[in-house]
Amino acid sequence: MSTPAVLVLVDEPRRGRPGRPLRRVAADEPHVLVTDLGITRGDGVFETVGIAAGRPQALDAHLARLARSAALLELPPPDLGVFRAATLEVAGALADAPSAWCKLVLTRGPEGEDRATGWAYGEVSRDWSRERTDGIAVVTLTRGYASDVTTSAPWLLQGAKSLSYALNRAALREAQRRGADDVIFTSTDGYVLEGPTSTVVLRLGGVLVTPPVEAGVLPGTTQADAFELLAARGAATRTRPVRVAELADADALWLMSSTRLAAPVRELDGRPVAVDAHLTAEINDALAARTS
Ligand code: PLP
Repeated sequence: MSTPAVLVLVDEPRRGRPGRPLRRVAADEPHVLVTDLGITRGDGVFETVGIAAGRPQALDAHLARLARSAALLELPPPDLGVFRAATLEVAGALADAPSAWCKLVLTRGPEGEDRATGWAYGEVSRDWSRERTDGIAVVTLTRGYASDVTTSAPWLLQGAKSLSYALNRAALREAQRRGADDVIFTSTDGYVLEGPTSTVVLRLGGVLVTPPVEAGVLPGTTQADAFELLAARGAATRTRPVRVAELADADALWLMSSTRLAAPVRELDGRPVAVDAHLTAEINDALAARTS
């Protein structure tokens, strides 16, 4: 079965020219110039929004994070109304699929031209049920920075969802070389950070805990929604710095992200971790049922 894909180009207005805000185009034809700084330098930002039965999930949070990332890269502020409309158009076109995703991209545009490039692109999601049920094997890898990186070296753009994901992909390949599926990055001063494409959540002494954005991690939309849904059911949640040594004390551990949702960790650095199948299913059912 071929995968339906949808592409909507977002014409960010050039200075002094309003332009056409949205154009639906064929996804399998070329649209981006080879001089685009998003391609030649990874100079841009993106979001991946989950879509359930045609409805984008956590769209407000994703749009807010797109604007936050753009500000960190000193890109022109994206027109969020146009990116919202583009996401809704992609989501509507993929409404027949139970789950899909839409990637929003904003780049600094073609070199030498004073205009950003933007697009929204969506596809049907792959089936993540095995990872959600059986769990994933994870290794810890150093990110090579201390946890004060956002203040000591803000130009490293930690916490921005920039297009420069080659390092994140390299870390995933390293995990595969070590026989694992995914990664938890750690800081040089001994703190837990995040996965290359996910937020870390631990259960410690009955409390669900996640590291703070001040440690140089992305504010996760899935983790935020999971904490809200669980807190509404009486669970205790906390955002605080987490020492690497605490990973061994966790009686459950998850990596959370927009398309895979909550993937329980079943093995960490070769050591088995208990999977709370009941709570994991409860979290994933609640996350999958979000209608906004
Ligand atoms: N951290 C990083 C580095 C990510 O790339 C992602 C998502 O891709 C996340 C965390 C999880 O964010 P979200 O739950 O909004 O998908």
